[in-house]
Amino acid sequence: MKLIFEKSSPGRGGVRIPEDRISPEEVIPAELLRSEPAELPEVSESEVVRHYTRLSRLNFSVDTHFYPLGSCTMKHNPRACEKAASVPELCETHPLWPQLRHGGLLTQGSLQILYSLERILSEITGLAEFTLQPMAGSHGELTAVMMMAAYHRDRGNKKTHIIIPDSAHGTNPASAALGGYSVVTVPSDENGVMDLEKFKEAVNEETAGVMLTLPNTLGVFNPQIRELIDAVHAVDGLMYYDGANFNAIMGRIKPGDLGFDLCHLNLHKSFSTPHGGGGPGTGPVGVCEKLRPFLPISRVAKTKDGTYTLDYDHPKSIGYIAPFYGNFSILVRAYAYLLMLGREGLRGTSNRAVLNANYLLEKLRGSYAAVSESRCMHECVFSGKSLGEGIHTLDLAKALLDRGVHAPTIYFPLNVPEAIMIEPTETETKETLDEFVTMMEEIMELSKTDPDALHAAPVTTPVGRLDEVAAAKNMDLTYTGDQND
Ligand SMILES: *Cc1c(COP(=O)(O)O)cnc(C)c1O
Repeated sequence: MKLIFEKSSPGRGGVRIPEDRISPEEVIPAELLRSEPAELPEVSESEVVRHYTRLSRLNFSVDTHFYPLGSCTMKHNPRACEKAASVPELCETHPLWPQLRHGGLLTQGSLQILYSLERILSEITGLAEFTLQPMAGSHGELTAVMMMAAYHRDRGNKKTHIIIPDSAHGTNPASAALGGYSVVTVPSDENGVMDLEKFKEAVNEETAGVMLTLPNTLGVFNPQIRELIDAVHAVDGLMYYDGANFNAIMGRIKPGDLGFDLCHLNLHKSFSTPHGGGGPGTGPVGVCEKLRPFLPISRVAKTKDGTYTLDYDHPKSIGYIAPFYGNFSILVRAYAYLLMLGREGLRGTSNRAVLNANYLLEKLRGSYAAVSESRCMHECVFSGKSLGEGIHTLDLAKALLDRGVHAPTIYFPLNVPEAIMIEPTETETKETLDEFVTMMEEIMELSKTDPDALHAAPVTTPVGRLDEVAAAKNMDLTYTGDQND
């Protein structure tokens, strides 16, 4: 298959711009004008369309493949939400347009969406107020840690560390450290939740707070959560809820009701924005009443006459953490999604997400070692230990690619040897799950009867086994004309 540059043929083209209507010399300063034409491929429109369509199909995506990547919630994103975000009145506004009614009706609508979305997120998390500005889950975590620090400074508390369980997402300790705290890691017990006794030993007057994922990254809900929260509050510590994957509990449990003081949500996981490949994201943070003064500015406010405005007058605020309102179009998608689902829809979504994960857990328990005896929440975790001699979880992941399924998350959580973490999400059918189970069983069988077939995988993808560290760290995307590049 020829690549786009090899297809170039002098004089061929797609759209032509009439030369008599544009005179580059008139609009571009002489010193910036090209002396030679750009070396672009000269191709027809159909060749360009085929080129990009072909490129898009070389990759795995939610639109083309089952994508059970644990802790990532790769679910189908309704196209209606995409449509809402592409309405010109929303996607063509500029944050510097006037907010008020004279000449500024469009920004009033945008501000109203932000205001209403904040209220809905407060409602489903049980927290007093939200900031929509953070641009990723990790950015939300850092924003939250900065607010924790501001709270403790304001109270004259001397706090030095944040407690984080060993099963946490890697961004938690990174955010705590960036926020100026040392990290105290508490191991998990045999049920896969933070060991309560070890936790109580770690909590003291210098505990600024605890960052917890619930259900945790093993897909287990911690039944001792109240006791844990009370111990932290007793030393004026703050409880942080990592709500990056809200699929398991949305519409059912509110972190605020459990006693959490802060929480971030990943709108690009649970709330209808496709993600992967590094963004864009949005990680709004909600806080309880006593942390309100520390929220970042600006805040969207509603005035007495019913108009919306940006409010900067919060002397204890941690200040700016992002330009303007964050990733606005993602916020619009989430708003459309939430309005579309409503209370019952949200609850149905988490019900099905949990049902699908438990279905896989029970179906696969026979062939793979499940990490926990109990039921799971929205994702299930296995160990690849029972694969045949010399076959590892990595080989399983590669073999799945050959069978048309994106690999689950592997080697995470770190506290599970040969971990396989599967999150089917609510948008997959029973038929898809059954096909997946059959593949997993077949691969287990092959690992014992024909291990070499698995060592060779993947054989159907554009590239075979790469040195993954080198591919990530020394990425070389320069086109040289060699198709093997
Ligand atoms: C994805 C995830 C994060 C980080 O979110 P980003 O938007 O990738 O920064 C944090 N915690 C958990 C549990 C996650 O799954």
